[in-house]
Amino acid sequence: MLGTMMDVPLLLSSILRHAEAYHGDGEVVSATVEGGLHRYTYGELSKRSRKLANALARLGLKTGDRVGTLAWNGYRHLELYYGVSGSGFVCHTINPRLFREQIAYIIAHAGDSVLFFDLTFLPIVEELAEQLKGLKALVAMTDEAHMPVSQVLPGLKCYETLIAGEPDAFDWPTFGENTASGLCYTSGTTGDPKGVLYSHRSCVLHAMAIAMPDALGLSASDVVCPIVPMFHVNAWGLPFAAPMVGAKLVLPGAHLDGASLHALFEGEGVSFTAGVPTVWLGMLDWMDTHARSFSALKRVVIGGSAIPPIMISRFHNMGVQVRQAWGMTETSPVGLSAALKPKHAALPPEERLALECKQGRPVFGMEFRVAGADGREVAHDGRSFGSMLVRGPWVAQAYFNTPTSPAHADYPGWFDTGDVVTMDQEGFIQIVDRTKDVVKSGGEWISSIDLENIAQAHPAIQEAAIVARPDTRWGERPVLVAVLKPGATFSRADMRAHYEGKISKWCMPDDVVIVAELPHTATGKLSKKAIRELILEEIKS
Ligand code: ADP
Repeated sequence: MLGTMMDVPLLLSSILRHAEAYHGDGEVVSATVEGGLHRYTYGELSKRSRKLANALARLGLKTGDRVGTLAWNGYRHLELYYGVSGSGFVCHTINPRLFREQIAYIIAHAGDSVLFFDLTFLPIVEELAEQLKGLKALVAMTDEAHMPVSQVLPGLKCYETLIAGEPDAFDWPTFGENTASGLCYTSGTTGDPKGVLYSHRSCVLHAMAIAMPDALGLSASDVVCPIVPMFHVNAWGLPFAAPMVGAKLVLPGAHLDGASLHALFEGEGVSFTAGVPTVWLGMLDWMDTHARSFSALKRVVIGGSAIPPIMISRFHNMGVQVRQAWGMTETSPVGLSAALKPKHAALPPEERLALECKQGRPVFGMEFRVAGADGREVAHDGRSFGSMLVRGPWVAQAYFNTPTSPAHADYPGWFDTGDVVTMDQEGFIQIVDRTKDVVKSGGEWISSIDLENIAQAHPAIQEAAIVARPDTRWGERPVLVAVLKPGATFSRADMRAHYEGKISKWCMPDDVVIVAELPHTATGKLSKKAIRELILEEIKS
């Protein structure tokens, strides 16, 4: 017997309609590429998204067509999120930090019909001009006053001119909630990037889930500033969740350095922000050097790679609560959040910190399994580890136009995350390592993350990475690769002294290599692959 409730599809346009109707005066503030801050309301966002929808229809797009974007976090990008997906097209956000060849590959693989881009990315588009000839339109996301003159892009359109003459009336179409809404390619650290095709249903459910108190915990009282880029995994769903709850939204644009972010946070009263550890490292250092504090910031969600414990303490000391979250492109991304339970309030501070350093416990909707080497589930004792599998309504079950299955070979219907983890009795999951980053020494596994966290706490170290160096006796041995703080020194003896007593002797790194800079991936994480290559070069020379 069926329930007798209404069958209303979960569509992204419903978020915009809700925000316009009940939070119409809610502010959206954007740091623009042209310079200065742009400010309008959810009411105006809705109007301009409808104008854009009319313009897209005039370009001759059909349901399911892909519309590419190469853009920072800003109001025009937000209008594209809603105008494109709300019309039944697919908003394909492209990560400009990828290599040119990868960007060209992705645009061709996605079959984009139109490409919208911020002025910053004109050089990329010009370089790819030949490959983009078949597209219906290339649109610079700016006004006539800032339109570039490009010899190689003769038909280049201007965003403001494109939508200027369009009516602001548009009936968002109703269609099945499983219709594709967005497309995002994985970073492609192994092989070609793969496309994850989100649906309206997956995005709406994910936005509702992250808004819950023990997930990212958002409400109309918040001022939300996503530092995570809208060009990758929908800025963790914040451009959907913020208007859903009616929070003021602050979009940081292109300048993500400590000084710019601090000025924006203070000027707009940002109370909630989210980003990868690398960004916060830069900001905290800048704040220390310039003796600044936060007046409005209450909470920061950090994910994408493990948080060094020292970062949690540094934020705490500034009166800011840190919450770790875990996710992947294939999981929309949020799956785990490290919100403590009431019983943890009684724990000594160092035990609370240890829990906050775990990747977190499952957000409702996501189910997790930890499969050991024999394929069987391991005990939830916080010590036994295995491969982390996940399933849920916002997890990819296939890649866009790619035969590779993301499912685990032994567990059909479960996505294999490639993370090696432990789970404790409370459901807190901790990443021991990426399957491909653990150091396999003499048949034992050494977590590169544990060693990095210890190194990161040393006062001389700015940034640290642990990678495996091939070893004839042990197979692999850990090596510390570090960037030092200006003027600091750090020897092998300093390293030994620092690790002493914090970890078993056989887990200690064999060596330390000091470098001026560590390579990062297109999503701002340490590129272990590039660092490993660096170490191999070092051995040869
Ligand atoms: P993205 O493309 O968004 O960077 P990827 O799908 O490339 O994401 O990477 C996802 C991986 O990032 C996860 O499988 C995990 O290894 C790592 N990761 C994400 N969040 C965390 C976290 N909080 N702590 C440690 N690792 C994390």
